[in-house]
Amino acid sequence: MSDDGDRLALLQQVLGTLNVGAIVLDGERRIVLWNNWMARRTGHSADSVTGSDLLHLFPELRGQRVDAAVTQALHNNFPSLLSQSLNKAPFPLYASAAAAARGERVQQAIEVTPIAVAGAARHCLIQINDVSLAVGREKLLREQTMVLRSQTFSDGLTGIANRRHFDMAIEKEHRRARRGGLPLSLLMIDIDSFKAYNDHYGHPQGDQCLIQVAAALAAMFKRPCDLLARYGGEEFAAILPDTDAEQARQMAEAIRLRTIELAIPHLPGGEGHLVTVSIGIATRQPDSAADAAALISTADRALYQAKRDGRNRVAAQALA
Ligand code: GH3
Ligand code: MG
Ligand code: MG
Repeated sequence: MSDDGDRLALLQQVLGTLNVGAIVLDGERRIVLWNNWMARRTGHSADSVTGSDLLHLFPELRGQRVDAAVTQALHNNFPSLLSQSLNKAPFPLYASAAAAARGERVQQAIEVTPIAVAGAARHCLIQINDVSLAVGREKLLREQTMVLRSQTFSDGLTGIANRRHFDMAIEKEHRRARRGGLPLSLLMIDIDSFKAYNDHYGHPQGDQCLIQVAAALAAMFKRPCDLLARYGGEEFAAILPDTDAEQARQMAEAIRLRTIELAIPHLPGGEGHLVTVSIGIATRQPDSAADAAALISTADRALYQAKRDGRNRVAAQALA
């Protein structure tokens, strides 16, 4: 065999082994080369497509970015790199028959390059890389990041916002209230005689009680700006932006009643032998100079007063 023949055979073998899709189009967009990679992922053999117009074979590509990139290459001698962010899978390529049945296309990064051919109109080479794995990994990483982020800001037991989330939110809402000249209310909600509950029913049931109360209270906050957080062991805090003292009192009273409605037995407890809560309220007036820490300590004082006055009640304190 001649040297040329050897080289051609070698080239064909290389083309057949390449782990990338390769299509060569002539100046009329007819397919002149189609490698094994393409055949395996489209189900069309090289023989069956050679000489066909690419857009006849894949009408869905007409007017798409691949089509424009081919025009650029053939007419303007311009290469293009199609990022996979916009259109992840322009060609109907499938990794397997099962993937094809599910309509799951290979994710593609595509390069279109002009090729000068002696004695003929310019050709172009389309290279297609399978980036499904990279895209899949990226998606997984993004999902894991979301989960981690939500874990960082939510309480492991009850699933509501945790203390860290509260600390950030109260500062943010305080700044927003000060800038906008708006009222801001804070409720401190503490389960009554919870130590006795644990002592009587056991710690695991205490946990269940916390979960149940947290879920019921969380469902009461309808505005996206409101935040219910687990402030400490059996203490919750509710940040209520743009809420004046009277509105806060109504919300606190509704929370107190809702807790009784849950009818969680608490034999050693107070009124009615049911689990109850005491709530302290502090409201920042629109013109107040007090900072977020003052709002918290005032709500704490109000909570202490509610406890002192007999529990299962709401108390408010003026913010200095
Ligand atoms: P008060 O009416 O004055 O609030 O009385 P209290 O017994 O609720 O208050 P105290 O602060 O003395 O006790 C709080 C109890 O809450 C003590 C602790 O064992 C319990 N506790 C805190 N965190 C958890 C938790 O995650 N799970 C359970 N089961 N109990 C908890
Ligand atoms: Mg308590
Ligand atoms: Mg407490």
